[in-house]
Amino acid sequence: MSHPSYPSVDEIIALMKSPTKSDRELIEKAYAFAEKAHAGQKRYSGEPYFNHVAHVGVNLAQIHVDAPTIAAGFLHDTIEDANVSPKIIEQEFGKEVLTLVEGVTKLGKLKYHGVERHVESLRKFFIAMSHDIRVLLIKLADRLHNIQTLEHVPEAKRARIALETLEIHARLADRFGMGKWKAIFEDAAFPYAYPKEHGQVLAIIKNKRIADEKYAEKIHRSIQKELAANGLKTARVDYRVKNLFSLWKKLARKDMDPDKVFDILAVRVIVKSMEDCYRALGIIHKHWRPVSGRIKDYIAVPKTNGYRSLHTTIFRGDGGIIEIQIRTEEMHNEAQFGIASHLAYKEKGESAKDIDKNLAWVKELAKWQKEVAGSDEFMEHLHMDFFKNRVFVFTPKGDVIDLPEESSPVDFAYAIHSNIGNHLSGAKINGKLVSIETKLKSGDIVEIETKENATPKRKWLDYTKTTMAKRHIRIYLDKTSTIGAIAQKFFKKK
Ligand code: MN
Repeated sequence: MSHPSYPSVDEIIALMKSPTKSDRELIEKAYAFAEKAHAGQKRYSGEPYFNHVAHVGVNLAQIHVDAPTIAAGFLHDTIEDANVSPKIIEQEFGKEVLTLVEGVTKLGKLKYHGVERHVESLRKFFIAMSHDIRVLLIKLADRLHNIQTLEHVPEAKRARIALETLEIHARLADRFGMGKWKAIFEDAAFPYAYPKEHGQVLAIIKNKRIADEKYAEKIHRSIQKELAANGLKTARVDYRVKNLFSLWKKLARKDMDPDKVFDILAVRVIVKSMEDCYRALGIIHKHWRPVSGRIKDYIAVPKTNGYRSLHTTIFRGDGGIIEIQIRTEEMHNEAQFGIASHLAYKEKGESAKDIDKNLAWVKELAKWQKEVAGSDEFMEHLHMDFFKNRVFVFTPKGDVIDLPEESSPVDFAYAIHSNIGNHLSGAKINGKLVSIETKLKSGDIVEIETKENATPKRKWLDYTKTTMAKRHIRIYLDKTSTIGAIAQKFFKKK
């Protein structure tokens, strides 16, 4: 009974990683149920409504979430748009699937009220999804299809939906390390949210991109050859083009000068093991001179969203330079699907230790939860406690900074940059000047004031919660007290 325009249920199941017989049955049943529930309904595009639902299923299957999540993906609009009662969903699919569907339905009710309110929406998102992170994944899969079909939506609504997608969904995808979805969200929304800027950036990079692409085509083969000649035969080398929206954001910081952005195109080297990452870096540096100050080891020190890779920028030999990113297949997978790739590992029955070993903030959580042994219990804590013990605050530009509960503007300042912390002179919360001892609350917009001659004080240690802030303050105090001690000795002698 498959409709020519839908992805079929078999296609969707084929995307899953080793589904069991009962996984299949659950998914087939939910697919058929939703198809019937939405029968006769149409999308703006004139296509059957179920086409949307089936694509949400595809999006979820592609990131290898579990069967109940995909089933809930099929059912996500049945309560609100097809008048199916929650009771029936529970009867047919059980409590777990119902909870997921209801979670998504509730999130749908949060309305977006323009950029000035996005902070509040984001905060609600964090709270709503804290009960089960899978709710967030379904919501993102839903928006992913909606934003890719935005051209069918009435024009008056497009800009609002596009802005909301940039402010909320793309940021959440980024926060959870889902680089691939983040880029899809951003580039689908960009032309509708900022049409003028979109045209501008296209014009700016047009010629540069063509030239760079030609070069990337050439150098990625030379690198492959060079690695093979040095014994790294299994390396896969390709290149990626920076997604347009993040390129625009970067250009805006670099006087709109494309020659100041070094990673419009980046060569990607995928190798077998972490050791091979460093070997590849060495081989590349032996043959192409690296640009100093641009070697970044995100394997030893992952980004806060869990991203791992080695980055370096090399002189191409023709006057230009190009960024190289080196990672393993596993790191590559994580860079694309973030937290979803960790949920997928759990399916394979790996221990909590394996799940958490790479994701920076899961690592932090694991430290508090050392005594939790079982994987299921671990996941439960991941859902509940991680968010419970955190506050989500915002920079004036709307970037989310998450901190332990009871953090102060001092923690915030050091979370932005050690230099900002070290020169902190005052803080504003939601536009009002406050004492730097103030405890931050979720949703606060925090602004830090700095002075060149301001320095860390010992009493700051009393109202900092993060190890990072404490460490920087101690480093500063140790440094100055040593100088003080030496000076004292010197004066005593005299
Ligand atoms: Mn939907």
